[in-house]
Amino acid sequence: MISKKMQDAINEQINKEFFSAYLYLSMAADFEDKNLPGFAKWLRMQADEEREHGMKFFDHLVERGGRVELKAIDAPQKEWKSNLEAFLEVQAHEAKVTASINALYELALAEKDYPAQVLLHWFISEQVEEEANAAAIVAQLEMVDAHGTAVLMIDKTLGKRSED
Ligand code: MG
Repeated sequence: MISKKMQDAINEQINKEFFSAYLYLSMAADFEDKNLPGFAKWLRMQADEEREHGMKFFDHLVERGGRVELKAIDAPQKEWKSNLEAFLEVQAHEAKVTASINALYELALAEKDYPAQVLLHWFISEQVEEEANAAAIVAQLEMVDAHGTAVLMIDKTLGKRSED
């Protein structure tokens, strides 16, 4: 049986993962509006991944005899001034998620919650990947600035994202 402290913290994390999905979906809508379907596709897939992250924590609580408690999801921003600004926000947001995963891991250590530690190992590795992906796209966007042809090329590349 999972501790109340750990259960509460995981329920908070479920909310954060679903907020991430909402944020990336809102960015996808903004890119659709700007006729950049490749960026939008990448962000839709990212949103799907975040939902899956939320569900991993959901299933963990269920398996451990805990109680899932879904909280209200904040409304995300609707519009971003530039492609770069949107992806700088992806990068900053992922850094925040990494910090909250790390805090959850510290709690799992303090609570001697070994099953949660094993689950969180997966998330710790996943965050390394998430931060690297965001940084790579930010670096490309910084290189091309608002250069139309280059932005269309990045759009094409991002549109080729497939399930991994
Ligand atoms: Mg996530």
